[in-house]
Order: sequence, then C-alpha cells, then structure tokens
Amino acid sequence: MDRFDVIIIGMGCGGDTAAGRLLAAGRRVAVIERELIGGECSYWACIPSKTLLRGPEVRAEAGRAAGVATPALDWAGLRDYRDFMVRHLDDSAQVKGYEQAGATVIKDAARLAGPGQVEAGGQLLEADHVVIATGSEPLRPAVDGLDQVTVWTNREATNVHDIPSRVLLIGGSAVGVELGEFYARMGAQTTIVQRADRLMDREDPGSANWRPRRWLPTASPSTPAAPSPAPSPSPAARSSPSTTVPMSRPTW
Ligand SMILES: Cc1cc2nc3c(=O)[nH]c(=O)nc-3n(C[C@H](O)[C@H](O)[C@H](O)COP(=O)(O)OP(=O)(O)OC[C@H]3O[C@@H](n4cnc5c(N)ncnc54)[C@H](O)[C@@H]3O)c2cc1C
Repeated sequence: MDRFDVIIIGMGCGGDTAAGRLLAAGRRVAVIERELIGGECSYWACIPSKTLLRGPEVRAEAGRAAGVATPALDWAGLRDYRDFMVRHLDDSAQVKGYEQAGATVIKDAARLAGPGQVEAGGQLLEADHVVIATGSEPLRPAVDGLDQVTVWTNREATNVHDIPSRVLLIGGSAVGVELGEFYARMGAQTTIVQRADRLMDREDPGSANWRPRRWLPTASPSTPAAPSPAPSPSPAARSSPSTTVPMSRPTW
C-alpha cells in the first residue's frame, strides 16, 4: 500500500491550493480528481464567466463614452478565446505539472476506505491526513415543470456554443447576475427570477441596487443570435412569487 503524508481528494481551487502549499513544504502528496484538475472554477465557473463578460462589458462601456465608436461583438472570436481559457477542457498539462512537482496523481473518483485510507484508481492509499476538497454541485430547485424543459447549469451556461434567443435564470445572486449580464449583452432576451426582493440579496444593498440599471444595454450583437437549444422558461417559474427582472431593454 502506498503511503503519503497527505492525500487530497478533489482538485478544484481548494485542493489545488492545499496541494501547492504541501508540495512546496516538501510533503509526500497524492492528489485524486475524478474529472479535471482545476475543478469547477477553471473550466465551468470563474474563468469562462469572466472571459465571456469582458468583451460585452467593453462594448457597453464604449457605448457610454462620447466620441467613441461602439465596437462590434464577435461571438465566434469570444467563444474561441473562452475555449482557449478553459484549455479546451483538457487538464493534461496540470497532471504533468503535479507529477513534475512530485505528487502522485490519480484520475478517478476516490472513496474513503477507513481511517487514513483512500481507495482510487484500483489502489488503496494510506496517509496521515486526508483533505476532502470535493466542492459542491448545482441544486435543481423544486419547480413544477422544470423536468419538462431544457435546463442548464453553470456548466452549459459558461461553455455555451450558440447564444440562445431567450434565457431565464433562476437565482439572482452573483452567478445568476453575471450570467444574466452576459446573455443580455449578447442579445438574448434575458430574465432573472429571484426569490428575494432584490438581486444579490446577500450583498450590501448599495452594491446590488445600481447594477440592473447599468447593465441592460443590449443592442443586438454583430453576430446574430443562433437558434436556441436554450433553457426555456417553465410556466411554474414564471408564476413564482419571486422578483422578476427582465433584462433585454436598452437603458441608454
Ligand atoms: C459561473 C460561476 C462563476 C464563478 N466565479 C467566481 C469568481 O469569479 N470568483 C470566485 O472566487 N468564485 C467564483 N465562483 C465560485 C467558484 O467556482 C467555487 O467557489 C470554486 O470552484 C469552489 O472550489 P472547490 O475547490 O471548493 O470545488 P470544485 O471546484 O467543485 O472542486 C471540487 C473537485 O472535486 C472533485 N471531486 C468530487 N468528488 C470527488 C471524488 N469522490 N473523488 C475525486 N474527485 C472528486 C470534482 O470533480 C471537482 O473537480 C463561480 C462559480 C460559478 C458557478
């Protein structure tokens, strides 16, 4: 049985940070990841979302500045750059990097097999410490009819190929708001349904209140919206008692 100082299960931001520090401190480390090293942030969350937001944001900024021609959006170019930024969903460089740094890398789902024991990749590993950094998964809310429409999570929404003509986002906190901003600015008819009485209700009210007025600018992008495999609004979601924020009308 291979023995380590630390076994890390899950190599998203959490596991990645722990692994980096432990390897730098000279510990014998095994890292185990069932999907891609880098986790949600690198491929389906922070990185693609911020990449997608930037172009439309610059365009909207230009639209508010006197004496500046409004640049055209190039969806195909932005999409290619997003794919580059998410490494085309390929973590082979990360696997190699960890191996070169001295870690044992196992690409498999891990299972705790006993105190200090982890099973993965057909092996039983043992360690003084086991770090569980397995992250979280999107919650599918109990909304009638949701199982009858196409539903995307952050994964489909951040790795979108064709901009849908209509998008309904359930949830108006940070992720819903930034995805709403992106889709609205790309020309999709976008609606956020939020159960609280304002967007980003977990944030300071001052930071939340101004945003919708500022980022609903969408003139159509230069690349027309493609036909949609899109999430369609479910009737039940539409009739929910939540705050509904339509986002498709130009405000300047
Ligand atoms: C659209 C979007 C945008 C975001 N933007 C930002 C941002 O700008 N800034 C920010 O700070 N945060 C942002 N976040 C939040 C951020 O993505 C998460 O906080 C972060 O990814 C959590 O990291 P983690 O390591 O805890 O989990 P994860 O990234 O989910 O990593 C957990 C890993 O564990 C693996 N795993 C699970 N079970 C097992 C098992 N049994 N065996 C082996 N491996 C396993 C999974 O495959 C996964 O790779 C965003 C989230 C979304 C959805």
